[in-house]
Amino acid sequence: MVAPPPIRLLVHGASGRMGRALLRLVAVDPRFELAGAITRAGGMVDGVRCLPAARIAAALPFDALVDFSLPAAFDTALEVCLQRGIALVSGTTGLSPAQCKALALAAQSIPLVCAANFSLGVAVLHELVARAAAALPNWDCHLLETHHVRKLDAPSGTALALGQTIAAARGQAPHYLSLRAGDVVGEHHVQFTGAGERLELIHRATDRDIFARGALEAAARVAGRAPGLYALGKLLLG
Ligand code: NAD
Repeated sequence: MVAPPPIRLLVHGASGRMGRALLRLVAVDPRFELAGAITRAGGMVDGVRCLPAARIAAALPFDALVDFSLPAAFDTALEVCLQRGIALVSGTTGLSPAQCKALALAAQSIPLVCAANFSLGVAVLHELVARAAAALPNWDCHLLETHHVRKLDAPSGTALALGQTIAAARGQAPHYLSLRAGDVVGEHHVQFTGAGERLELIHRATDRDIFARGALEAAARVAGRAPGLYALGKLLLG
């Protein structure tokens, strides 16, 4: 059987912690071909020549854009995908309400996956907290997230997404607590406290590659698909 042609990827935010993980994984994954890489100012990143964001319109043809950048950079990524009718997989967190609205609108024109956390473990955690929140509507619920000191947004996008899952299941959002410490990749600790007992659900990320792998899996599944907002949990957990 002839293998399908590789999916051509544009990596947006290529010089960041996540962008560099993506470049490294794409280079060894036969499902993909790197069509280009974008950073704020352009230049070389780990041997890859990157276009500056201002010249994104000059990017070679691509089948999906994977974006792990910053909210200030996100609009350009969405715009180029809309102009070309191409899939967008975005992990950028801290988007404004107006940007979230623009995403929802864009889903009418292009395939989209947008998630605050691309790990398989957190996809399962959403299912577990929904079950616990529905069963324990009157217990106190706290959500503690810990990240490295360079993380800009708080609470984390993952904490807010888990909070939405909890609120949908029990009608009340959790209390959020955020810690910024050292080089912690990401920890989310959901605690339900009742009289005389406590239930804790914890996810610890120790390696950024888990997010990059999840985003690549999503890109492989939505490139070339019909327009729509695809839920990551359904894509990863089937
Ligand atoms: P980083 O600060 O290390 O990298 C940011 C990148 O954005 C850099 O490559 C920078 O050049 C680029 N950038 C900045 N301004 C730009 C512009 N105007 N145009 C184009 N590119 C621009 O950040 P990081 O740790 O790699 O994280 C990136 C984002 O991904 C953050 O929002 C973070 O919270 C999020 N994140 C999401 C997940 C997830 O699973 N969804 C996981 C980890 C991080």
